[in-house]
Amino acid sequence: MTKSKKPRLVIVGNGMAGIRTLEELLKRAPDTYDVTVFGQEPRLNYNRIMLSPILAGEKAYQDIILNDWDWYEANNIRLHAGDPVIGIDQKRGFVFSAAGRKVAYDKLLLATGSEPIVIPVPGHKKNGVITFRDMKDVETMIDGAGRLQHAVVIGGGLLGLEAAYGLSTLGMKVTVLHLAPHLMERQLDTAAGTLLKQELERRGLDIILEADTAEITGDDRVEGVRLKDGRSFPADLVVMAVGIRPNTWLARSHGLATGRGILVDDHMITSNPDILAIGECVEHRGLCYGLVAPIWDMARAAADTLAGSDGKGYQGSAISTKLKVTGVDLFSGGDFSGGKGTEDIVFRDAARGVYKRLVVKENQLIGAVLYGDTGDGPWYFQMIKDGTDITPLRGTMAFGQGFEEGALSDPFKAVADLPADAEICGCNGVCKGTIQTAITEGGLTSLAEVRAHTKASSSCGSCTGLVEKLIGFTLGDGYVADSGPKPLCGCTSLDHGEVRRLIVAKGIKDIPSVFQALEWRTPDGCHTCRPAVNYYLLCAWPGEYQDDARARFINERVHANIQKDGTYSVVPRMWGGVTSAKELRAIADVVDKFNIPTVKVTGGQRIDLLGIKKDDLTAVWADLGAAGMVSGHAYGKSLRTVKTCVGTDWCRFGTQDSTGLGVKLEHATWGSWMPHKFKMAVSGCPRNCAEATIKDFGIVCVDSGYELHVGGNGGIHVRATDLLCKVTTEEEAIEYCMAFIQMYREEAWYLERTAPWIERVGIDHIRDRLTSDSEVRIKLRDRFLLSQKDAQDDPWAARAKGVDAHEYQLLATIG
Ligand SMILES: Cc1cc2nc3c(=O)[nH]c(=O)nc-3n(C[C@H](O)[C@H](O)[C@H](O)COP(=O)(O)OP(=O)(O)OC[C@H]3O[C@@H](n4cnc5c(N)ncnc54)[C@H](O)[C@@H]3O)c2cc1C
Ligand code: SF4
Ligand code: SF4
Repeated sequence: MTKSKKPRLVIVGNGMAGIRTLEELLKRAPDTYDVTVFGQEPRLNYNRIMLSPILAGEKAYQDIILNDWDWYEANNIRLHAGDPVIGIDQKRGFVFSAAGRKVAYDKLLLATGSEPIVIPVPGHKKNGVITFRDMKDVETMIDGAGRLQHAVVIGGGLLGLEAAYGLSTLGMKVTVLHLAPHLMERQLDTAAGTLLKQELERRGLDIILEADTAEITGDDRVEGVRLKDGRSFPADLVVMAVGIRPNTWLARSHGLATGRGILVDDHMITSNPDILAIGECVEHRGLCYGLVAPIWDMARAAADTLAGSDGKGYQGSAISTKLKVTGVDLFSGGDFSGGKGTEDIVFRDAARGVYKRLVVKENQLIGAVLYGDTGDGPWYFQMIKDGTDITPLRGTMAFGQGFEEGALSDPFKAVADLPADAEICGCNGVCKGTIQTAITEGGLTSLAEVRAHTKASSSCGSCTGLVEKLIGFTLGDGYVADSGPKPLCGCTSLDHGEVRRLIVAKGIKDIPSVFQALEWRTPDGCHTCRPAVNYYLLCAWPGEYQDDARARFINERVHANIQKDGTYSVVPRMWGGVTSAKELRAIADVVDKFNIPTVKVTGGQRIDLLGIKKDDLTAVWADLGAAGMVSGHAYGKSLRTVKTCVGTDWCRFGTQDSTGLGVKLEHATWGSWMPHKFKMAVSGCPRNCAEATIKDFGIVCVDSGYELHVGGNGGIHVRATDLLCKVTTEEEAIEYCMAFIQMYREEAWYLERTAPWIERVGIDHIRDRLTSDSEVRIKLRDRFLLSQKDAQDDPWAARAKGVDAHEYQLLATIG
C-alpha cells in the first residue's frame, strides 16, 4: 500500500495528550495512518508539567522536549507547528488551519487542552497581566523578572504557587492573593495548607488569604492590585492562576456535542464516530481532568480505538497531586473532604515538620494528605485506587509502609508490594512493570540508564527515591546506587551545577552575596570555590559582574606564567600562528632589552619569552604593545591558541584557506574566559598537519567544506575529538565554534576541560543542542558575542598603563 492510500489521521493539538496517543498508537499499529499534527504553539511537543521548574531556573526548555524533529521525521509525521486548526468540515472530512491549510482526514483526534481562566475584573486586559499555561508565558515571566520588581500572583493553587516560587527565585518580590482561607484548598486540608503557607513565607513569599480582587490598577500597564476590602499591592506583573477550563471552542462551534468539555465515551469517541477527543479538553462520565495521570489512561484507550481494537476503554481516573516547589514535599490524593461516615487518622510530628492525614471510610482509604514526608504517597494512593481493606493495617498505617508491627521492615518492601501497574513516575506516566521490564530486558543497572530508557524520574524528580528502590529490589546485589554529584568544596554542600543554577535563578551578582544567599559554611570561601564562583558570575552576568582578581590563581592575576624559579614567561598573541618581521623585531628587541634568557616556540605555534623578572613584566608588555601585540592568555582559563597549517595559500593538498579561517576564529574568540584552557586548530586537509583532532575545537577542511571536531585533548589523558558535524561555509564553521564555546562556558564545571565535560554529558547532548535546533545554536552564539563585548580587552595594555601596579612591585627588603 502506498503512503497516500493509508487512512489519514489528523491530530489537533501538539500537546501532551495528542502526542501520547500517537506514541501509544505507534506501539500498537505502526505505519497504519498517514499522520498530520497541527499545533497552535510554534514548538515541538514538550512536557508542560515542567514549565514550573523552568521558571524556577531548574530546567531549560531543551530538557523538557518530549519528541524532537527527528522523532516526527522518523515516524513520517507531518507537523504544522504554529498553525492552529480553525475549522472542521465534518461532512466531507476536512480541517482548515489559520495559515490556510486544508487537510483531509479519515479519523480526527481533538486534543486541544485547556485555556486558563482570566477573572474579568476591571484592568484585566492591561499590559503586564498574564496567565501561566505555556512556554510563551514562562518566557514573558523570565523576561519580566529580569527588569521588574513586584509580582502579584492571583490564585494560591498548584499553578499559582509554582509561578510565585519561580518568580521569587528569579529575584522578584512576590505577593500571592488567594480567595480561600487556606492555600490549595482543593488539594489540602487546613492543617497542611497552614504548614505550606508558613514554609512559603519563610522562603520570602507574601501570602494574603481571603483576598478578593476588585481591580487591577495602572494606566496602560499594570501598577498594582486592589482588593475589595480596600488593601492594595504594588505590581509590575500580575499572573492570573485561578483555574482552567476545557478548550472546547473548535468542537462546539463545529457541531460536536459538548458539556463542560467535549463529550466522549469510554473509547474516547465524540458525538461523531470518526472524531475522537482526549486530554483536558474532554468530559468523560461527567468529569473533566486537569492533570496528566488520566491522560496516560485515555491515550491507551484512544490508541486502541484508532488501532481498531476495542480494549477495555477508559474507566475514569483517581488523581493525586504533588507541588513542584523544590524542598517542599507535599502529596495529596483521593477525597479528603471528610463528611458523613468518614474517619481521620492524623499523624503529626511538629519537630520534623511532618503531617499526614488519612481519610478512611468503611475500612477503605479514600483520601490522603501528606506534608513533609511524601515517600509513602504512592502506597497510599494505590490503596485508594484498589479499594484495599485496611483493617489489618489500621494500627500502623500512619507510620508508612516501611513500618510493620513496630519495627522497620525490609527497605524494599514498599516497592515489592506494589502491583505491576502501579504508577511510579506521575510526570511521565511510567508504571512499575515497565521499569522492571526495562531493567531486566535491557540489562540496566543505574538510575541514569533507567531514566534514559523509560523517562521515569527524568522530570520533576520526586519519584527518584522510589525508582532507586525499585532498581535495588529488581537487581538485588547487582545494584550500586549512583553516587551523585559531589559538593563544590568543603564550604558548601551544593555541587557546581546547583551553585550555577542558583546564581542565575536568584539573580546573585557578587561573591559575598553567593556565600550569604547559598549559606556557605565559611565567610570567605576557599581557594577552590572562590575562582569557580568568580567564573560562574562572570559567565552569568556579562558586562555587569566586576571580575574579582583576588579570586584568581596567580597566573591569571598577574597575566603571565610563573615558572619554577619564580620568574615569569610571556606569550604574545600571534593570530592563527602568523607573524611578521615587525612583530619578530619587537620580540627580539624585548629579548635584548630585558635580558630574557630563553625564547622558545611553543607547541601551539607561538613564541614564549621565558625568564622575565616580575618587576619587568609591565615594561615588557608596554614594548610588545607598542608593536601591536596583545596578551596570548597563555596563563589563562581562556582561549589559548588557534593552530593552523598553511592550507591553500601554500600547500599542494590544501582544500580551504585554513590559515585565514584560523586567524578569523582567533579574532572572534580571544579573551573569552572559560571553565578551563581552550585550544583550537584548523587543518587544510585530512592530512591534519595542525593536529585539529586533539584540540578542544578542531576544524579539518575537506573538499565539500569543513568537518567540525570537539573535545580533543593532547594532555596527560590523550583524547581524540568527536565529530560534531560537517558544514559547508566558513561562516557556519565560525557560528558553530562560538555556539560550542558558549555551551561549554555555560554548562561545564569550572576546571573541567572539554574532553571530560563531553564524556560526562555525552556527545549526543551537545549535538542535540548545536545541530538539531538552529534557534538554540544562534542564541548560544549571540550570548557568546554579548560576553565578548567586554572580554576582548587586552589585560597587558591596561597593566602597562598602571592598572594593579602594586602586583608588579618588589616588596621592600627589610633589614
Ligand atoms: C505550569 C503547569 C504546571 C503543571 N503541573 C502539573 C503537574 O505537576 N502534574 C500534573 O499532572 N499536571 C500538571 N499540569 C497539567 C498538565 O500539563 C496538563 O494536564 C496536560 O498538559 C494536558 O494535556 P493536553 O494535551 O490535554 O493539553 P496541552 O498539553 O495543553 O496541549 C494542548 C495543545 O493543543 C494546542 N491547541 C489548542 N487549540 C488548538 C487548535 N485549534 N489547533 C492546534 N492546536 C491547538 C495548544 O496550543 C496546546 O499546545 C501543569 C500544567 C501547567 C500549565
Ligand atoms: S593539513 Fe593538508 S593542507 Fe594543511 S599543510 Fe597539511 S597537507 Fe597541507
Ligand atoms: S608538559 Fe608539563 S612540564 Fe611541559 S610545559 Fe606542560 S606542564 Fe610543564
